[in-house]
Amino acid sequence: MGKVYLVGAGPGDPELLSLKAHRLIREADVILVDNLVLGVRRVIPADKEVIDIGKTATAHKYSQAEINELMVRLASRYETVVRLKGGDPFVFGRGGEEALYLKEHGVEFEVVPGITSAIAVPALFSIPLSYRGVSSSITIITGHEMENKEENLNWEALANLKGTLVILMGVGNLGNNVEELLSHGLQADTPVAIIEKGFTPDARIVTGELGNIVTIAKREDVKPPAIIVIGDVVKLRTRLTE
Ligand code: SAH
Repeated sequence: MGKVYLVGAGPGDPELLSLKAHRLIREADVILVDNLVLGVRRVIPADKEVIDIGKTATAHKYSQAEINELMVRLASRYETVVRLKGGDPFVFGRGGEEALYLKEHGVEFEVVPGITSAIAVPALFSIPLSYRGVSSSITIITGHEMENKEENLNWEALANLKGTLVILMGVGNLGNNVEELLSHGLQADTPVAIIEKGFTPDARIVTGELGNIVTIAKREDVKPPAIIVIGDVVKLRTRLTE
C-alpha cells in the first residue's frame, strides 16, 4: 500500500509552491490534478502520469466519491500518490473529507499545506488583510449557497465583525451574501474588492462598496474564481499603490 500526499499547490504561481510540494511533484508515481491554473501545471515533468480530475468541457467530471475511490485505488498500485489541490488543502476544497476517507480506508496519508488564495490573492493586489488600527481579525467564509445552507452561517455575527471578511466561492451568490450583510447592519459604504483569476495573466480587481458592488460586478461581468474582500483594509490598497 502506498501513501497519498494531499498537497497544497498554492494560488497558481509555481514559485509559490512549497519546496516540499515541488519535491513531491517530482517524486510522485502519479499526480491527480484539479482545475489548477496553468502556471503550476508547467512544473509537472512531461513524463509524469497525470490524472486530470478538473472540470473541462471535454473531460469527464469526477464526483467527490469517484475522486475518493480513485485515490484509494491508486494507493494500492503506486508508492507515492500526489493529490494536488489549489491553495491550501484544508481551506475549503474538501481536503478534510478526502483525508478522512483515506483514514477510514486504511490508506496512509500526509497533508502538505499550501499558500491559500484567500490570503495570497488579496496580497497580489496590495490588500493586507489585517492592519493595526484598521482590522484585527480575518474571517474566511464560503459564499456558496449550498454550503451556506448546510453550515448555516451566522450573518448577524459576520456583519458585526469590525474586521476583514474574505469570501471564497462567492461570485454566483454575491447578491444574496451582500443582502445578508446589509440587512444585518453592515454599512453600505463598507469597501469591497473582488479579485478575479489571481496569479493568471487575466487577473484583475474590481472595487466598490457594499451598497453598489453587486451592480458593479454585473457591469464588469465578474466571473469565478474570485476572492471577495470586505472591510476597511481594501482602502489601504490605494495608499500602497499610488
Ligand atoms: N483550497 C483553496 C480554495 C478552494 S475553494 C485555497 O486555499 O485557495 C475555491 C475558491 O477559491 C474559488 O471559488 C475562489 O473563491 C478561490 N480561488 C482559488 N484560487 C483563486 C485564484 N487564483 N484567484 C481568485 N480566487 C481563487
